Amino acid sequence: MISKADKFLLNTYRRQNLAIVRGRGLYVWDSEGKKYIDCVAGLGVNNVGHCHPKVVKAIEDQVRELMHCSNLYHIPNQIELAELLSEISPCDKAFFANSGAESVEAALKLARKFTKREEGIITFLNSFHGRTYGALSATGQEKFLHAFKPLVPGFSYVPYDDLEAVKEEINKKTACVIVEPIQGEGGVILPDEDYLKGLREITNDYDSLLIVDEVQTGFGRTGDMFACMHYHIEPDIMCVAKGLGGGFPIGAIIVKEEFSKGFEPGDHAATFGGNPLACASAIASIRVLMEEKMVENSREVGEYFISKLKKFNEIFKDIRGKGLMIGCELEEECHKYVEFARERGLIINCTADKVLRFLPPLSIQKEEVNIVISILEKIFEDER
Ligand SMILES: *Cc1c(COP(=O)(O)O)cnc(C)c1O
Repeated sequence: MISKADKFLLNTYRRQNLAIVRGRGLYVWDSEGKKYIDCVAGLGVNNVGHCHPKVVKAIEDQVRELMHCSNLYHIPNQIELAELLSEISPCDKAFFANSGAESVEAALKLARKFTKREEGIITFLNSFHGRTYGALSATGQEKFLHAFKPLVPGFSYVPYDDLEAVKEEINKKTACVIVEPIQGEGGVILPDEDYLKGLREITNDYDSLLIVDEVQTGFGRTGDMFACMHYHIEPDIMCVAKGLGGGFPIGAIIVKEEFSKGFEPGDHAATFGGNPLACASAIASIRVLMEEKMVENSREVGEYFISKLKKFNEIFKDIRGKGLMIGCELEEECHKYVEFARERGLIINCTADKVLRFLPPLSIQKEEVNIVISILEKIFEDER
């Protein structure tokens, strides 16, 4: 089957020669029956682990009742999910989409409409916000942009973790600033502890909205429910997706009450947005996160993981992260280590060419981290 991929699929992904066909908790199996420890978790999606029984049951129960009905009507579990999001986040009201990029699109449209400011969306170099045109235009990396110009107008790109650069760029025409609390795709880049607070103050001074893109950092990934909580700020709009559905595709913006009035009927929509099946999966996976204390586990085991990775100090130029969002920067390209790991039963990812990224399910235990570390030890012994 894999051999037909080139014939029938557009060649947009650098796919590895592997088909994952089954997953349980921290583990996945390939089509040959080989078992792997999964430290990618669908790119930060399977936060509660693969096929958690409670999430599976919620989807099974819902799929028999109603899969889809459209937003022309009320969807009871969509309201329930929105209430749950308002309880666990600093924001109040939700709009549901189907992906991270779609949530970014919704956030940018709302900021434009609410502020009535036609220019001025400030975003950051080395950021990543998705591949649709608005989200792509917000992405400050030339390698993703260059072949697709002209982009959506109005964006300006300033260095990350540099408040002075924002102060120079911002003015009374600036609709919004969009920021990742920790840059993910860009290589797990943590800003200064006071950076987000600084951005919050600057955007307040200019009545510009602050959009925090928590698509990757949300739902316990960084050891808090959302990364903005760690930095003690409240965004005007939050973008979420990846971990929200526990593996089922769903995205959302969560908005502060006062800015929610920007959208009126007809302004924005998504046919599939917040459909009953996606909402059932998201509600179940958020409940599992809380019941099984996976956010706390992410913080504790994440610290342990980073402390253990330090034994590779000579190989890694830098080891950084928060919770279970961890990046190890090498001097060289790291794609080959992804292959070496796969051969030894470990799934990891290489981002920004030189950063090995670890995004395991938030249920991972210290003993399992020890196994990951011993696999890495073998790789570095054998392959260097
Ligand atoms: C992955 C990601 C996106 C895009 O999400 P998609 O679901 O792939 O559209 C947006 N923002 C951040 C921070 C991400 O990590």
